[in-house]
Amino acid sequence: MEITKPHAVMLASPGMGHVIPVIELGKRLAGSHGFRITIFVLEADAASAQSQFLSSPGSDASLIDIIGLPSPDISGLVDSSTFIAVKILFMMRETVSTLRSKIAAMQPKPTALIVDLLGLDAIPIGKEFNMLTYAFIPSSARFLAVSMYFPTLDKDVEEEHIVNKKPLAIPGCEPVRFEDTLESYLDPTDQIYQELVPLSSLPPTADGIIVNSWDDMESKTLKSLQDPNLLGKIARVPVYPIGPLCRPADPSSANHPVLDWLNEQQDESVLYISFGSGGSLSSKQLTEFAWGLELSQQRFVWVVRPPVDGSASSEYLSVQRGDCTPDYLPEEFVSRTQERGLVVPSWAPQAEILAHKAVGGFLTHCGWNSILESVVSGVPMIAWPLFGDQKMNATLLNEELGIAVRSKELPWEGVIPRSEVEVLVRRIMVEEEGCEMRKKVKKLRYTAEKSGHGSLSKVAEECEFLLDQGTASGA
Ligand code: UDP
Repeated sequence: MEITKPHAVMLASPGMGHVIPVIELGKRLAGSHGFRITIFVLEADAASAQSQFLSSPGSDASLIDIIGLPSPDISGLVDSSTFIAVKILFMMRETVSTLRSKIAAMQPKPTALIVDLLGLDAIPIGKEFNMLTYAFIPSSARFLAVSMYFPTLDKDVEEEHIVNKKPLAIPGCEPVRFEDTLESYLDPTDQIYQELVPLSSLPPTADGIIVNSWDDMESKTLKSLQDPNLLGKIARVPVYPIGPLCRPADPSSANHPVLDWLNEQQDESVLYISFGSGGSLSSKQLTEFAWGLELSQQRFVWVVRPPVDGSASSEYLSVQRGDCTPDYLPEEFVSRTQERGLVVPSWAPQAEILAHKAVGGFLTHCGWNSILESVVSGVPMIAWPLFGDQKMNATLLNEELGIAVRSKELPWEGVIPRSEVEVLVRRIMVEEEGCEMRKKVKKLRYTAEKSGHGSLSKVAEECEFLLDQGTASGA
């Protein structure tokens, strides 16, 4: 059989925050480097993944297959209070053997296996079948740096961070406030700590680490990760900053009601508000938020989700689309604000909204994909982190890049009052500070347009080299 092009198998963990960047990486390997791509997702994500793929501009269904793997039953391993990332990790672990049999049945054998963060347990399968293996981190380089560095700390030093909240002094990087790191670091006796902390020792077992970032976004951290005398000592394998890789806006979705409404608004006059694919606010915060937004008198599109008291991420695993008017907002909020705002239940075409010229600000939970989509659209942000890597992402945007405002109060420690919400919205939409940030993020957007391709070419060359050696087969 004539060997023509590399075949990469990709594994995406559940949640659109993982599935979307994996699809975009697959599209780029197929479109720019001629790869054939097979993307495995869990069955529950298969329909959403297909529709994200088909609606994403430049998708070529002849080069990319999306295949659902049976969603494993983890009910014996977790309960309803288990942290979402641990649930996903367990699901992915249970899926490894199914993935193994799928790859074992493939003829000829694929060239590369690319797994995202919570699927890293699958790396040994790639080794077993002589494939190149890559850990794909669909998050910031800082997240990668923090998560690889923390487990290397001496136990006494670790204690000092946990008890005295000493910032992490990661070699070659900006110090990271301990409260900005992951919740999982707080309690070494907790299941979250025990399951998630060891995970970060896995990327160095791959042949390379692909991270969705670029030099102008995170120059110090990326340099450190690539320097064998700094964090490169821990990474041990090449780190490829291939970002920003994010879902482009789809011109054919131009008739969506939200976009129709945006067409009627003035340039850069609308604040877009979303807490990602599953984040929600507590009932008290939701009420304060709605009042603050109303008091700001600014135009907005708000993707709302029912309040959740407790975990801020309970809807993460299901993409829900609702049409009814949400009854959990303050009484008559929708009718009072209908002249200047649009409330969208559960899900909206975010990439298209952010790319619309009427959008002038984005209040975001600081999921990495949302941040990248905002940067490539030149939209400054209000950082409203909820959990996980979002706090360190917010610090990067606010204190280092100067492209987001952020509340002085910490949203995860209490409720931000309506007066503060009003101030935040006006700072980004009305005041000079917002204009300056808009200029800065537009500059960063230009650097984004030029980056990423070189690093991905290196990954492609490695795969082509392996193919030429005849140790793996192509499609
Ligand atoms: N997203 C969307 N519409 C929504 C909410 C989210 O299209 O209403 C997309 C968003 O554009 C991004 C992804 O879902 O690509 C969310 O990823 P992110 O990393 O920002 O956050 P997560 O959901 O993983 O917390």
